[in-house]
Amino acid sequence: MKQPDYDLCVIGGGAAGLVVAAGGATLGAKVVLIEKHALGGDCLYYGCVPSKTLLYSAKVAHTMHNAERFGIASVTPRTSIADIMRRVADVIKTIEVHDSPERFRRMGIEVVFGTGRFTAPDVFRVDEKSYTAKHFVIATGSRPAVPPVEGLDKAPYLTNESVFSLKEDIPRLIVLGGGPIGMEMAQAFTRLCSQVQVVELGDKLLPREDTDLAEIVATRLGQEGVIFHLGRGAQNVNYSDGGINLSVKAQDGHQETIRGSHLLIATGRRANIETLGLESAGVEIEDGHIVTDKRLRTTNKRIFACGDVVGPYQFTHMAEHHAGVVLRNALFHLPTKIEERVIPWCTFTDPELARVGLSETEAQQQGIRHKVYKFPFKDIDRAQAEDEIEGFAKIITDPKGRLLGAALAGPHAGELIHEYTLALAQRLKASDLSKVIHIYPTLAQINRRVADARMKEGLTPTSKKWLKRIFGLRGN
Ligand SMILES: Cc1cc2nc3c(=O)[nH]c(=O)nc-3n(C[C@H](O)[C@H](O)[C@H](O)COP(=O)(O)OP(=O)(O)OC[C@H]3O[C@@H](n4cnc5c(N)ncnc54)[C@H](O)[C@@H]3O)c2cc1C
Repeated sequence: MKQPDYDLCVIGGGAAGLVVAAGGATLGAKVVLIEKHALGGDCLYYGCVPSKTLLYSAKVAHTMHNAERFGIASVTPRTSIADIMRRVADVIKTIEVHDSPERFRRMGIEVVFGTGRFTAPDVFRVDEKSYTAKHFVIATGSRPAVPPVEGLDKAPYLTNESVFSLKEDIPRLIVLGGGPIGMEMAQAFTRLCSQVQVVELGDKLLPREDTDLAEIVATRLGQEGVIFHLGRGAQNVNYSDGGINLSVKAQDGHQETIRGSHLLIATGRRANIETLGLESAGVEIEDGHIVTDKRLRTTNKRIFACGDVVGPYQFTHMAEHHAGVVLRNALFHLPTKIEERVIPWCTFTDPELARVGLSETEAQQQGIRHKVYKFPFKDIDRAQAEDEIEGFAKIITDPKGRLLGAALAGPHAGELIHEYTLALAQRLKASDLSKVIHIYPTLAQINRRVADARMKEGLTPTSKKWLKRIFGLRGN
């Protein structure tokens, strides 16, 4: 039998594909990487990097507006979306050198630009050339899922693929979708002087999160001027006189029209799988995603899939994690499964909302015996010093105090969550966090304080009585 041309053929050069390709080449595999546009993927060009850069500019504008809180005269900043997006483009340019084709070619990887399709279970064809490999890795990511709203095909709308290259200011923005992307963009634009309205089909914003945590974020956005229309389904849209008219319907049938100058669609993601010839390769799909087992093998064991194309956790750090799992399984035949218990994530609004492990709602829904402890940021001295006092930390433990999950809504939640992530990965108890010295005055003290709440609970009147008796203590 003819030997395949490559050890690995990676399709898609985003976070997942690049890590597989680079890891494979470093470990000695012969690798070909096939990419449609540019190496770097959504995260670099249309996702994490531009959104966090935009949010930071928005935060600077917000701080200038509110400088009085810090004893400095407030100013109304002059903002220009064109200038801010220029900065976004500069940051992308600085980072993109790490993902340049030359860098990957220097690693010995054959980088091919183009799209193709499987023509057989072991052949991927790009233009006239066929690629055979011991293993294929599908890492083609996702794109915005555009809902079937009447008139949308004729109206100009923005998605994450176009919003970061805007050149004009946005007087009145309608955001369709109240998930993480919708909320981040709503806050960024409201802080950059747009009037923003968010339309959400469900009756809750950030629906994956516990309501008490999501409310911290929603309340802040509301205070900053974002208007929310919850429980409203978009019916149709028309564009006239240079404006968007979005007709929405409430659950009780009531209809209204929301007007804006621009419309941003942030209603979820759809996997990029349609053109890959998966039928010819024997790769099954379900609910729009590639079916894999826990080792990320598709229904064709020669073909793996990783990153957004698999889901359900569509984050860059999950794409990287998936890539590591694929490398171990494909190259070394080490049966390695994906992590399902300890997955952290963060919505980068201000305040941030970060979470790892089980939420309180999930514990309730799954009938898991649990306890919940909370501690507010307002009782953390550093939070007071920086006037970042909204929000709280929450831990969920089993009855014996072992951590099941943690979440924070508050300043730098995305950084603070990592202590819990390690604790959860190591199956630690709240008391283990309590024992660790935390630097004063840091925000990270909240991680210890919330764990202390569990310790204090152990001090019942009876246990206090025994302590007093044993140690001869004389307090009341
Ligand atoms: C607005 C926004 C903000 C985000 N913010 C964050 C964040 O803060 N933190 C976080 O962790 N995640 C964030 N994400 C999610 C993150 O961007 C994705 O989870 C991550 O990019 C997934 O990596 P991937 O490699 O699976 O896919 P991608 O990065 O999308 O890469 C897929 C690649 O495949 C290529 N491709 C597609 N079809 C083909 C084809 N037929 N042939 C060849 N190549 C093809 C594409 O051009 C692309 O380069 C955000 C996403 C969005 C949209």
